[in-house]
Amino acid sequence: MTTTIIGYPRIGSHRELKFAVQKYFKQQVSARELAQTAAELRKQNWDTISKAGIDQLVSNDFSYYDTTLDTANLLNIVPKRYKELNLSPLDEYFAQARGYQGDKGDVTALSMKKWFNTNYHYLVPEFEDDTDVKLVGTKIFDEYQEAKNQGYQTRPVILGPYTLLRLGAFEGKKQATDFTQAVVNAYEAIFEKLAALGADWIQLDEPQLVKDQSEADLELFTDLYKPLLANKHGLKVLAQTYFGDVRDSYDLLTSLDFDGLGLDFHEGDESLNLIQSKGFPADKVLFAGVINGKNIWKANYDQKLDLIHKLPKTDIVLTSSCSLLHVPYTLENEPQLDEKYKKYLAFAKEKLTELTDLDHILGGTGDDALKANEALFAKPRYEENQAIIDKVASLKDSDFHRKPSRAERAAIQKKEFNLPELPTTTIGSFPQTREVRRNRAKYKRGEISKEQYDQFNRDRIKECVEFQEKIGIDVLVHGEYERNDMVEYFGEKLDGFLFTSNAWVQSYGTRCVKPPLIWGDVSRNKPITVAESVYAQSLTDKPMKGMLTGPVTILNWSFPREDISKKESTLQIALAMQGEVLDLEKNGIKIIQIDEAALREKLPLRKSDWYSRYLDWAIPAFRLLGAKVQPTTQIHTHMCYSEFGDIIDAIDDMDADVISFEASRADLTLLDTLQKTHFQTHVGPGVYDIHSSRIPSEKEVAGTIHKILKKVPLENVWINPDCGLKTRGTTETTASLENVVAATKQVRQELAHEGR
Ligand code: GLN
Ligand code: ZN
Repeated sequence: MTTTIIGYPRIGSHRELKFAVQKYFKQQVSARELAQTAAELRKQNWDTISKAGIDQLVSNDFSYYDTTLDTANLLNIVPKRYKELNLSPLDEYFAQARGYQGDKGDVTALSMKKWFNTNYHYLVPEFEDDTDVKLVGTKIFDEYQEAKNQGYQTRPVILGPYTLLRLGAFEGKKQATDFTQAVVNAYEAIFEKLAALGADWIQLDEPQLVKDQSEADLELFTDLYKPLLANKHGLKVLAQTYFGDVRDSYDLLTSLDFDGLGLDFHEGDESLNLIQSKGFPADKVLFAGVINGKNIWKANYDQKLDLIHKLPKTDIVLTSSCSLLHVPYTLENEPQLDEKYKKYLAFAKEKLTELTDLDHILGGTGDDALKANEALFAKPRYEENQAIIDKVASLKDSDFHRKPSRAERAAIQKKEFNLPELPTTTIGSFPQTREVRRNRAKYKRGEISKEQYDQFNRDRIKECVEFQEKIGIDVLVHGEYERNDMVEYFGEKLDGFLFTSNAWVQSYGTRCVKPPLIWGDVSRNKPITVAESVYAQSLTDKPMKGMLTGPVTILNWSFPREDISKKESTLQIALAMQGEVLDLEKNGIKIIQIDEAALREKLPLRKSDWYSRYLDWAIPAFRLLGAKVQPTTQIHTHMCYSEFGDIIDAIDDMDADVISFEASRADLTLLDTLQKTHFQTHVGPGVYDIHSSRIPSEKEVAGTIHKILKKVPLENVWINPDCGLKTRGTTETTASLENVVAATKQVRQELAHEGR
């Protein structure tokens, strides 16, 4: 058999690319120096993958920021407003990625969305009516050639035309189907050039196919691929899918002239069934995604072999279930982690070995690897916590419902807090400056004491509170200086989690996260956030929000267990966090925000699974946290992302008193949904985009507030940025928040004039 992977992480095993790109943004390195770092990282990847014994390498899985953006730029899908800046190609690319504010103009970034059901984000390709789709870039060719010069024949990978069009935003009158011909021509030009350079395969990623497909979808797919596959220029074409199965398009895929079909046998519930019931064409290569590309557990070889033996005896390539982009580089960077844990884990590099192990076992030369793996799985991995398991099992329906009703609570809380109209607040974190990070690093290295560490953070809290009071924010936050990451912070303090030192995973652009790992049963043995919140509240008469991360987000941003259900794991976390909510309340914190930043992102990709496989337990798990607090205690929640259209009822059903959304980067379309569905929860649709360093003007924010007021009843509206501020600088944060408060005051005055 042959082995390959769909893609490899690219940020650098010590985040070298992140740092180089950030230095480029600050003009500390030149474009050439950045390109050198990038080339070194690509070389390291190819060397690593090849040394591990993987037969087929890929290229063009690298990106400075995002591969969807790369594809759009390769094909001239660049909105006019960026072209008009007249920047260098690299700067034009980064302007789309993160906005541009400088002497050449002022534009916001392209909108950014979660990549299917992962925590990776892509930039949405934006098609205008006069977008002239054609091959203009060279990245895919350059990187193919670069590998070739190093002696590596690779399979270039690129986002497929169908997924490209389906993920695209169409800003004018034209729709996806109006671009079919141009897109076909552009991809054909790519085929032609790659073939001329000596490539034998190309991989077209079409993850869109794992979602529910309509007739029109399949028609578009056919219209794209029929002509394209008629002109392959001698290239072999792999249609690569992942994150699910292709039940609606299997017949179509097998009937078209693809040379290879990549299927996900990990998340794809139906993949095996499809092959067994419908057969697999003998003239195609099956790229069987058997090694889980999304999670960090070591594969159970016997189970994998079972699966492989059920596959047709045609040409098979063993591969990962999706790109390894979604797991960290290697366990080699985790010297701190005990071997008793590590032996159950596999990161990207170790997954390469799993693939070659399986290949060897199947070829009759992998007995030792198989025996070692069987021995590992013969014993239980960890010790169960029976008390917690019982507690979850005994939860009753009434444990998930808060009383009295939200409307009654709203009246009670109005009296309790006596806030002005359009109350202002922020999402929680304030800039994590270099000093804040340095303080943490020093403490971690043992250079300062716990007292010194805490005192430093207290000083920051004090400054933060003073700043908010000074500019006139109504509901304050303490700034979250003590938190490295909203999930890691809680995971570290709960029992049942494991931590890594360098297991970074790219979230978007230069941003990486280091997800904890849920190792065992979860519980809380002492208060986690009470000290900071109580201290912050002591500094002000205004309400101070307690700040927690919700159970669904903790689960979704961790590497979950696979030996118990996500539901069960989440309920364990919810019970632990319920204790924290009650401790905050007991200590005088009257507003508690429970962030569910990631609730939307693990929504199953197929609609039919949304409730039965997710929301039916995820929403109650959230409710469990607030179910026992006093009516006067106000529960807030926050969600990143804004595509809530079709689950808005479920969100209202979380029964929070107030919710803040990330809305500004998706043009506030969310507001229509709120209006249409008579959304009950009081709501702060973010009034500016914090993912960019751009400062919104007072006028701009006032305009946004007016847009909000057209759709949401005044008494329900809160004013806030669209997410936490930790990734931002102090100067832009100060200026932006001042503008937000000034704009709010201006609108309040206007309303008073109108007599509202
Ligand atoms: N409270 C968190 C913060 O402000 C929320 C972050 C998030 O939504 N991603 O940082
Ligand atoms: Zn957010």
